[in-house]
Amino acid sequence: MKNSVKITTFEWLLDLIYPCYCKGCGKIGTIFCRRCFFDNRAKNMPFFSDSDKEFHRIFACGRRQAVLSELISQYKFQSRRHYRKALSRYLSETILEFAPGEKFVVVPLPTIRKHIRERGFDHIGLLCRDFAEKMGFAVVLALNRKNSSVQVGADAKTRLEQAKGAYIINSKAVLDIKSHFLLVDDVWTTGATMRAARGVLEAELMRLGAKKSEIKISAICLAKNGGRGFS
Ligand SMILES: [Zn+2]
Repeated sequence: MKNSVKITTFEWLLDLIYPCYCKGCGKIGTIFCRRCFFDNRAKNMPFFSDSDKEFHRIFACGRRQAVLSELISQYKFQSRRHYRKALSRYLSETILEFAPGEKFVVVPLPTIRKHIRERGFDHIGLLCRDFAEKMGFAVVLALNRKNSSVQVGADAKTRLEQAKGAYIINSKAVLDIKSHFLLVDDVWTTGATMRAARGVLEAELMRLGAKKSEIKISAICLAKNGGRGFS
């Protein structure tokens, strides 16, 4: 709570000193206005898969290109916290389009602690809070990060190896086995981290008594690297 008050005051001051300009049309007051958001979405459309072997469904808000890619990179690497509003709109509009009425329990993919320290904030955690609040979903911090392996630049095979064992269950999290869980991450490249996280969550749900066939775990990413498929 303390944190969010701090951020709000800080952002209010920033808005006063450095007002936001829309990345699309230059209009003052927002980083990406509603009109430009929908214009851009028509060019870089969201998509999903319901034929994955592991996930119930996988959603992507678009491909990693142009404005969407720029928003993610600047949000994450330049600590532009206020971009979360534009980015959480990508998440909520994608869910509203492909899974209207579905009640998800949001599970943020935990970020390496070192990166949180460097950036000064947990970019996925903050994004998830905003998204869940908009949608009326609960957020459960079901996972913790076990090691601090870095994924940037590593090839697919290395990434898969690194991802295995990267997550553990947060023992303090309260999980309802009947929930439809939605894992959230920024970029889907090989899917290795998402799949590793899903495996850990599934194992825990089974330990809690869920039957494998009844477990519902979906995933959403802001942007998909490469084509529109999920391998
Ligand atoms: Zn605009």
